Amino acid sequence: MRAFAQIDLAAISENIVSISKRTESTILAVVKADAYGHGLVPVAITAVESGANWLGTALLEEAITLREAGIEVPVIAWLTPPGEDFERALRLNIDLSVSSISLFKEILVAGKQVGIKPRLHFEIDTGMRRGGVLNEWSEFLAFAQEEKSNYSLIGFWSHFARADEPLQPFNKVQEDEFASKLEELMATGLSPEIIHLSNSAATLSRASAHQSMVRLGIAMYGLSPDVDQMGDGTKFDLRPAMTIRAKIHLVKAAKAGDAVGYGGTEVLKRDTKLGVIVMGYSDGLPRTANNSVGVFFDGGFAPLVGRISMDQCVVDLGPDSQAEAGDYVTVMGGEGYSIDQWAKAAGTINYEIVTRIAARVPRIY
Ligand SMILES: *Cc1c(COP(=O)(O)O)cnc(C)c1O
Repeated sequence: MRAFAQIDLAAISENIVSISKRTESTILAVVKADAYGHGLVPVAITAVESGANWLGTALLEEAITLREAGIEVPVIAWLTPPGEDFERALRLNIDLSVSSISLFKEILVAGKQVGIKPRLHFEIDTGMRRGGVLNEWSEFLAFAQEEKSNYSLIGFWSHFARADEPLQPFNKVQEDEFASKLEELMATGLSPEIIHLSNSAATLSRASAHQSMVRLGIAMYGLSPDVDQMGDGTKFDLRPAMTIRAKIHLVKAAKAGDAVGYGGTEVLKRDTKLGVIVMGYSDGLPRTANNSVGVFFDGGFAPLVGRISMDQCVVDLGPDSQAEAGDYVTVMGGEGYSIDQWAKAAGTINYEIVTRIAARVPRIY
């Protein structure tokens, strides 16, 4: 295998167990985007075994994959545009989220078609101005009331825009807005079974927002929601679950003054040995990463040299390296450069680094 992602399911399990000690609330494990690149079904099974009673996905097809794998805990898919196969969703007992009257209607029609009452979660926009009911709220409430015998109201929820900045006053603004909208809902006699507002950042830093369920994403994978604002995962006793390894394809000696890679962007300052690694941006390595990262091998750290190519990249192994073609190096995670270091080197966040690892990189458990 020329490259693979080693996924430590025990780390995911320990992360969930340790986070569940911080809250009384039910844990929903967020497994969207192929479980943040870690592998949807194996992670979902691990999460459920580790105490997560709920699973959450963005897309309907992700939730369907969970059901097809025989997973029976409650699953919510919260990002379903009009025109999805809602009848199938209902037959598979998948919870759906609504943030507009039109989608609400469409799902009710599907419910009548298959003779199943949809299990719905109302998403409220409390300040992020992304998903959730906003301007339609009064009409939405009236509609929800009129149709109340045609669906089960399972959840009432919203999402923080700035929970990764625990001291940011806007978090309180959103919490207050959430409470007031919930009150208006309850005043109509509608009463959700579950109230959920917190992502990982709020789960780790904002007990007032835990409500009856927290939606745990990045933290269960062992990564901090915001390294700059909250510190890295070790601050919360989290252990990253992903390690990426790849083979050296070729080792060669090159001279000081040689320019390496497309555009000749980097000129060697010394005679050294270069290692060509069989992994590139099509595998998910960020092309924008600078040479503050690279790979780890027996002899130590070898920084990137020049631009990352589509299928390969070049590292400086050092003039005395004993590394050979065919050896595995650690590209990120484990004893190598951390996912957080890669994110920083590429000017992005750890979320993007793990979710972009391509499907052609096999996940090994
Ligand atoms: C992705 C997502 C989460 C999880 O966020 P983390 O920051 O990874 O914990 C929670 N809720 C919703 C609606 C999401 O889309």
